[in-house]
Amino acid sequence: MRYWGYFAGKLAGAAAVLWGLLKVLNWYWPAEPPFYSYIPPRFGYDLWFTVASLGWFLLVVGVLYLVIWDQRYRCRVCLRKLRMPVETGSWSRMLLLGQPRIEYICPYGHGTLREAELQISGLQNPEWTPHSDDIWEELCASSKETGPES
Ligand SMILES: [Zn+2]
Repeated sequence: MRYWGYFAGKLAGAAAVLWGLLKVLNWYWPAEPPFYSYIPPRFGYDLWFTVASLGWFLLVVGVLYLVIWDQRYRCRVCLRKLRMPVETGSWSRMLLLGQPRIEYICPYGHGTLREAELQISGLQNPEWTPHSDDIWEELCASSKETGPES
């Protein structure tokens, strides 16, 4: 829930800044005085207002892309940036060793994000695998499988 709350907060912050920029744009290019209760439109008739509107729209799309891209590579638990990308699989031995993927991990061990490099059938969502809170569990499990030797 914290992960989605952070995402909603980032979207709300970006929307507030972009809404303010739109207000500045409308303040800088005020509407024409009404002509017999008809207000002529600015968009599509005033070249520089239309160009500025296009720039604002491209800024909105870019900021939305950055917000989503940043959120994708964050830990689902602690919200820190995922680090240490490791390439797994092989392009030349795809059937033997698995498809090529990039794995990112949380620096505090909360989980692993596996992202496929090969995306044939459209954009695939990366797979998040949470880790156990007990970091010694895997080590102890491997020693239990070998059995008591002492
Ligand atoms: Zn984490």
